[in-house]
Amino acid sequence: MRIDVLTLFPEMFEGVFTSSILGKAREKGLVELHTVNFRDYANNKHNTVDDYPYGGGGGMVLKPDPIFAAVEDITPKDETKPRVILMCPQGEPFTQKKAEELSADKHLIFICGHYEGYDERIREHLVTDELSIGDYVLTGGELPAMVVIDSVVRLLPGVLGNEMSAVTDSFSTGLLEYPHYTRPATFRNWSVPDVLISGHHGHIDEWRRKQSLYRTWKKRPDLLAAADLTPKDRKWLAEFEAERDRTEAD
Ligand code: SAM
Repeated sequence: MRIDVLTLFPEMFEGVFTSSILGKAREKGLVELHTVNFRDYANNKHNTVDDYPYGGGGGMVLKPDPIFAAVEDITPKDETKPRVILMCPQGEPFTQKKAEELSADKHLIFICGHYEGYDERIREHLVTDELSIGDYVLTGGELPAMVVIDSVVRLLPGVLGNEMSAVTDSFSTGLLEYPHYTRPATFRNWSVPDVLISGHHGHIDEWRRKQSLYRTWKKRPDLLAAADLTPKDRKWLAEFEAERDRTEAD
């Protein structure tokens, strides 16, 4: 996969693109990560990329010409419709499902905004996806782009070792992930659940599924509606509810 990020602050990506899993994926040649300063595509003598909004009002607006020129320049000639992702608080809420969808693509181009906003023609005629990382407003699209890129790259084949499989991660299964424990088996009188040291894989899998379900029911019940639930899962859910009703009645 190749990822290009259009930004006015390429230096912000240096640490993120060279550290941890992203750095290793890059070293192994599993992903190419590039930043493009679209100020280099400004066609005026002061290299201006923003201007006052038509109609007045506060804040500056990113001009369309440098961004169109940058995207056109970095798009290979044989790529007819590049995937151009605009980071934007008004965009589609970013999810694990979207990360999975993007991880199947060969080339992603991210646009990081700044200031008040973008000229609307960028949104209308250049962009294929608009993504928001949450209902709050950040100064620029750089941190949101890093969030999306990290979650996409870790899904590429070979990026995570077996020991860090993404398959059981929260949201991948439609549920939150089960709790983890490691050595020591007893820490300050708090012991690891017996089942995890029993060596019985069937029981461990069952315990983990039930814990996953319980956590989701407790913390994110909204996820249950879309989750793929077995009759056993539904029986457990009924038990959690009965237990809650009993406790509340006491
Ligand atoms: N005036 C804009 C609005 O109300 O929608 C907000 C502009 S914000 C100050 C500047 C840039 O930060 C945006 O263009 C976008 O690239 C990025 N940004 C801010 N919050 C974001 C979020 N929650 N998700 C994705 N991008 C965000």
